[in-house]
Amino acid sequence: MRDWIEGDNINYDYILRYIRDTLPQREGLLLEMEKYAEENSVPISQPESIRFLEIIIKIANAKRILEVGSAIGYSAIRMSRAAEGEVTTIELSEEMADIAEENIKKAGLSDKIRLIRGDAREILPQIDGEFDLIFVDAAKGQYAEFFKESRRLLKKGGIMVSDNVLYKGMTATDELLVHRKITLVRRLRAYLEMLKENKDFSTALIPIGDGVALSFKKI
Ligand code: SAH
Ligand code: MG
Repeated sequence: MRDWIEGDNINYDYILRYIRDTLPQREGLLLEMEKYAEENSVPISQPESIRFLEIIIKIANAKRILEVGSAIGYSAIRMSRAAEGEVTTIELSEEMADIAEENIKKAGLSDKIRLIRGDAREILPQIDGEFDLIFVDAAKGQYAEFFKESRRLLKKGGIMVSDNVLYKGMTATDELLVHRKITLVRRLRAYLEMLKENKDFSTALIPIGDGVALSFKKI
């Protein structure tokens, strides 16, 4: 069952190739960043997932965006450009944050993207303001903890996008589940169950990239 899975992706290779061929070509800094991520195993989100995110941002006219997990700043830059708005992004790793800062500067977006260094579990409770969209793309075992704060930070009618929730398909079936990921996958399943049961949110699970949960805050 595993042979059709390429990296952190849950779709058939031929579907993936086809979708990726339809994506706008990246160039310059973005292309360099994609190469850097590949060569250094930085888990930036899949290009089709980022495309999806850009379109959601445009449909929702999201201008104030919060991201949990910046890595090298790739998705933050893409989201900031798509929104023509402001992104606040949180990164735990000092090394990643240094690279992200450099990339944000190169992109000319230092005044549009605010990078906060630290553990989002500590940073989120200190953040104020209302966000139109929150992109959750950090440690998968911590999504439920992030949610305690991000639900407060999201405006009514706001959107939360949680990335990698199907985790190579392991969330959906024990057939793919590898032993060392059992705790993580249990947490992801509990997170999705919690979103499903949450009366304040409507959630759709989208089988794109590594699985995306798209949640709408009703109140
Ligand atoms: N959103 C990025 C990829 C993020 S990869 C993109 O698509 O371009 C996940 C990142 O989350 C890693 O860099 C990791 O260091 C960071 N991270 C993990 N747990 C975190 C936490 N609790 N708080 C902040 N960042 C965290
Ligand atoms: Mg991701």
